[in-house]
Amino acid sequence: MKENRDCKIVRDLLPNYIEKLTDEETNKYIEEHLNSCMECKRILEETKQKIEIETKESDKRKVNGFKKYNRKLRALRIILVLIVLIIVCTFIITTVRKMIIINNLSNLAEEYKNIDNYHITMYNYSDGKFYKDETYKMGDKVKVINVIVENGEITTTISIGNKNNDVEYEEYNTHEYININNDDKILLTDGKWGTIGGSDNVLHTENLWDLFKCAVKARIEERTFKGKNCYYVDNFESNERGNTLEGMYIDKETGLEIYSNKKNSEEYVFETVYEFNTVTEEDFIEPDASEYKTMTRNEYYTSLVEESEK
Ligand SMILES: [Zn+2]
Repeated sequence: MKENRDCKIVRDLLPNYIEKLTDEETNKYIEEHLNSCMECKRILEETKQKIEIETKESDKRKVNGFKKYNRKLRALRIILVLIVLIIVCTFIITTVRKMIIINNLSNLAEEYKNIDNYHITMYNYSDGKFYKDETYKMGDKVKVINVIVENGEITTTISIGNKNNDVEYEEYNTHEYININNDDKILLTDGKWGTIGGSDNVLHTENLWDLFKCAVKARIEERTFKGKNCYYVDNFESNERGNTLEGMYIDKETGLEIYSNKKNSEEYVFETVYEFNTVTEEDFIEPDASEYKTMTRNEYYTSLVEESEK
């Protein structure tokens, strides 16, 4: 009976004994019993093995969990790298696309800039003033019709003349027909014009780096203006131009700016219509001078000063 009672106690203590949680005195008692009881010794070995297996399995579970976590981490890293790659690729593709568009339009504009036969009409509305500037150019011949509408008054000035080849800079000797509200009609016989406004390459860039910087900043959209297929270019800031305040409609066919409005405001609009190789000798026929009072520039400006002093 005693042996059975000891066995029961020892067997209860065995798990703790294996885990080395029992004190010295208990250990002594257990070991003494084990030496004399084969059955308990067998149970000891069995329990030891059981605990070993359990430990191994729990370790395995831990390792598996860790492996799973590692796999997730790796997948996350791959996704992050992919996202960064996609962003970088998108940036490169859109920038290169913009560079190509700007470069193509700029090349087209350069071609049109060199055509010496043109009729360009500019409409400009800003601060309540309306301007219309029409330029006819053919070789050395030039005609500029300038209309200003302000406070209900219409002033039309027609300047017709030829290039002054005696000077190195650009200058034109003209006859200037000034018509203010059809009341005052004055002909200035010694009119002068400086540089004639032709077509401008607004998307000009100095070099590849300048082009790249412009392309990164610029916003480019396909739009139409009065039936013409255009690129709408905004935030274009080249070395030459600096920051343009206005969004520009660039004609796809010519690379020339045909419309712009400052910050999309209705207060300022600028529209240009281009015609090339349509100007003929007939465009330079002077108006009937008989209705006009002939003056020199000096006399005219003196009369203006006198009038303002009255
Ligand atoms: Zn026993």
